[in-house]
Amino acid sequence: MRNERSVQVQAKHQKKFEKGYPLIFKEAIVNADSLKEEGVILRLEDEKGQFLAKGYYGRQNKGFGWVLSQNENETIDLDFFVRKIQTALHHRESFFNDPTTTAFRIVNGEGDGLGGLTIDYYDGYYLINWYSEGVYSFKHAVIGALKQLVDFKGIYEKKRFDAKGQYVEDDDFVAGERGEFPLIVKENGVNFAVYLNEGAMVGVFLDQRPVRKLIRDEYAKGKTVLNTFSYTGAFSVFAVEGGAVHTTSVDLANRSLNKTIEQFSVNGIDYEEQNILVMDVFKYFKYAVKKNLSFDMVILDPPSFARSKKHTFSAAKDYKDLLKDAISITEDNGIIVASTNYSGYDMKKFKGFVDQAFKETNGRYQLLEEFTLPEDFRTIKEFREGNYLKVVFIKKVK
Ligand code: SAH
Repeated sequence: MRNERSVQVQAKHQKKFEKGYPLIFKEAIVNADSLKEEGVILRLEDEKGQFLAKGYYGRQNKGFGWVLSQNENETIDLDFFVRKIQTALHHRESFFNDPTTTAFRIVNGEGDGLGGLTIDYYDGYYLINWYSEGVYSFKHAVIGALKQLVDFKGIYEKKRFDAKGQYVEDDDFVAGERGEFPLIVKENGVNFAVYLNEGAMVGVFLDQRPVRKLIRDEYAKGKTVLNTFSYTGAFSVFAVEGGAVHTTSVDLANRSLNKTIEQFSVNGIDYEEQNILVMDVFKYFKYAVKKNLSFDMVILDPPSFARSKKHTFSAAKDYKDLLKDAISITEDNGIIVASTNYSGYDMKKFKGFVDQAFKETNGRYQLLEEFTLPEDFRTIKEFREGNYLKVVFIKKVK
């Protein structure tokens, strides 16, 4: 049996846990600093010792752990994980039944009642992300549950333990047979080359699936496209598939060049007809203005925080300016796709930046589309901040 410990919840936060709030945050716990043992089961109680919820201690950037059950008698064992993962799989049945998409999320942390871990499916391979040592202590039960529930080719994992959620370098293979990489997976009929054993990022961000599809199906035809912070060029590939006349992909990381060439190539697209630049996006904006370049579509998908030699970008402070840069090189009646995964503000505030950016450039705009996380990235109403993704399609009106 795992150690269990009773902890008292601060009076003013008790209601939250009664209503199903999943995150055990530091301020909620009386004497939180005394917590040390990762993975210990926490019995959250009110000041009279009455049961509120049950969870585990696991330090990560977001907090001190997650609630796993509101049932006092539920034990956190193999069967618990079997029940949770089975329900989670059930919610993804339509994905398993769709041969045109073979990469999607099957467990989305607290959205599936398992805060601190995610599991993604890549054509028969399962990839587990562990966000704390505490949650990692349940590895045996989680893998055991997967073994009971699914036929897998192999299982891989990413340890993202430290307080910043940073990846711990390791051999990420866990069970089954090793994959041959790149593994070619499909998304709405388009190929992606993914690598499950080469660092934290595998080559594709699955949460943008509906955005990529819409770009291909309704926005790309006949357009010139600038894809900034392009990583492996996933948006560019979908734009070309949708009939874009030309794409320019810009990313600072050296790896992005080969990765983008590969992503085009596995889809039979001649990468030499596309423009792929290893460059600071902010430098590119200046260059484009100087050379009078403009685009029918500009895609902005920056990380929440990035530091380059000359520039620090923070989605919290600098998104409005990024939009202004984009506006200056977007054609009249062109589209800006603005995206952020920064969880510190909501859609309303994000749209506020759009509004300000156009006001400050004396421009007019129309909001055409709006996305948050897709269906397989399940979220719960008790934890709205878990729905971190915000994407808007903006038309620059003449
Ligand atoms: N849009 C991508 C994901 C972006 S991930 C996709 O759809 O797959 C963020 C990327 O931003 C990383 O590849 C990183 O190398 C890049 N990046 C960070 N700062 C940058 C900068 N100043 N200029 C260009 N690229 C940058």
